[in-house]
Amino acid sequence: MGEPLCKKCGKPLSTAEAEYCPDCGRKKHLYVRGRAALEYDSVMRESIGRFKYKNRREYGDFYVQELLRACGEAVRSWNPDLLIPIPLHKSRRRKRGFNQAELIARGLGKELGIPVSADSLLRTKKTSPQKELNDQERKSNLKNAFQLAKDNVKFKKILLIDDIYTTGSTIDAAASVLLDHGAEKVYFLCISIGRGY
Ligand SMILES: [Zn+2]
Repeated sequence: MGEPLCKKCGKPLSTAEAEYCPDCGRKKHLYVRGRAALEYDSVMRESIGRFKYKNRREYGDFYVQELLRACGEAVRSWNPDLLIPIPLHKSRRRKRGFNQAELIARGLGKELGIPVSADSLLRTKKTSPQKELNDQERKSNLKNAFQLAKDNVKFKKILLIDDIYTTGSTIDAAASVLLDHGAEKVYFLCISIGRGY
């Protein structure tokens, strides 16, 4: 994914003049910054679909390497003290057998020497797939979707890990809970991200 990228969410931009994608220009996100490794196109849609729904867990290693290659420098400059994968609701996790974001977070944590917590953030509401919803519906869909397992977050700089970034509403919803409970800065990394235009 070549430059230029949105300075907030890391979406690839078609014009070099813009600093932010239209989405980040319009609304304020709760996270500080984020990046993704690969542009979300038809190839990535298939790849991530197989990874998540056809149990192709070995794709995780490739995604981790791509993330390190594309975003390793950014992550080192953010210097997070904890990685947290975006959780699945437990019924969905049971059905799928694994959380794809957790697999990526564990791989990254090992490579970067940063601890991973997959049980501090909980998904307490079974939400509809975000891709079927518009921006407003995404937000209400995610309202109160996340909770903390413990009252306080003892880590200050948290890097959230997810598979696909679209409008940022999932990352913002998770960041909101963390910031309400003691986190100071939240960043994100996603495997794949849409184009910002
Ligand atoms: Zn953006």
